[in-house]
Amino acid sequence: MIDNRTLDYDFPPYRPPNEASSALIRASRGCPWNKCLFCTMYKTLKFKPRSAEDIKRDIDKAAEIYKGAKTVFIADSDSLVMKNIVDIIQHIKLRFPDSDRITSYARAKTLMKLGSERLKKIKEAGLTRVHVGLESGDKKTLEFMQKGVTPEEMISGGKAAKRAGLELSFYILIGAGGKDRLEEHAVESARVCNEVNPDFMRLRTLVVQHGSLLEEKKNSGDYKPTSPIEKLKEVRMLIENLEVNHCKLASDHFTNNIWVNNTVVYKGVYGMLPQEKQDMLDILDRTLDFLSVVEGEVLDATILYDRGMIHSL
Ligand code: SF4
Repeated sequence: MIDNRTLDYDFPPYRPPNEASSALIRASRGCPWNKCLFCTMYKTLKFKPRSAEDIKRDIDKAAEIYKGAKTVFIADSDSLVMKNIVDIIQHIKLRFPDSDRITSYARAKTLMKLGSERLKKIKEAGLTRVHVGLESGDKKTLEFMQKGVTPEEMISGGKAAKRAGLELSFYILIGAGGKDRLEEHAVESARVCNEVNPDFMRLRTLVVQHGSLLEEKKNSGDYKPTSPIEKLKEVRMLIENLEVNHCKLASDHFTNNIWVNNTVVYKGVYGMLPQEKQDMLDILDRTLDFLSVVEGEVLDATILYDRGMIHSL
C-alpha cells in the first residue's frame, strides 16, 4: 500500500475502473461544472487547476511510485481546460517513457470548445484517450440532470476528439431517464453514439446517492427510478438501436449487476460492436426470461444501497 501522504503526493480519488492500475496524476481539483444532479464526486471542492510546479513534482514522484507504468490517468474531471495542459502531458511522457496510454476525463463541451486542432496538439503531446460522460443522448434527460450539454454538443465534442485522433470512451448512465423517459433515453443515447462512433461505450447504472441533488427529485416524485428489470430492458433497447463500428461495449462497474437470493445472476454485457451485438441481446433476453419466472427477490445496486447494504459506489 502506497502512503501518498508521506510522499506529499496529491492523490486523485476518482478514476475509471479500467484505470485501476494506471499511474494517477492530479492536474486539477474538482469539476468546473459541478452541477449534475446525480453526481456527488466533487461537491465539496471548488474547481482549481494546480500549479505547474506542483503537478510536475507529483509526476516526478509518481514515476517512482508507479515505476515502468504503461498507463497514466490525468485527474480530476476536466483538466484539458487548463492552458498549460500540453506542457503537463509532455512532462508525463518524459517521466513515463514506457507509457502507451495516457488518458483523461473530459467534458464534451470542453472538447467542442477546444476543437480538433487544439486537441491534435494535446494528442501530439501524448494524450491517447478521453473518458467522456455522455450519460444520455436524450435532450430532456440531459436538461433534467443539469448536465449542461446538449446532445448536439455531445456529438460535436465527441467528433472533435475523434478527428484529433484521440480514442473516445463514452459513459452511458443506465436509468438516467427514470420511468418517464426510459425509451427516449435508450433510443437517443444510441442515436448520439451512432453519430459519433466512439471507440468504447461503458455502461454505468444510476444509483441515486444520499446527499445528491437527484435524491431531492426522487423524494419529490420528479424522478422515478426504474426497477432492475426495467433497467435491463433499457440496456436491451440501447443495444438494439446501436449501429456503431469497431466499438467495444463494457459494463465494467458493479452497479450493473443484478442479484437473486444473494447471488449475482447478471454482470452486464460486454462485446465488440457490431460483431457481438446479437450475443449481447441474447444474454439480455435470457436474463429477462429468467427474471420473469424466478422465485425470490430481484435486487440491484439501487435497492442494496437504499437498504444500507452498499455504502460506496
Ligand atoms: S458528472 Fe462530471 S461534469 Fe457532472 S458534475 Fe460530476 S464531474 Fe462534473
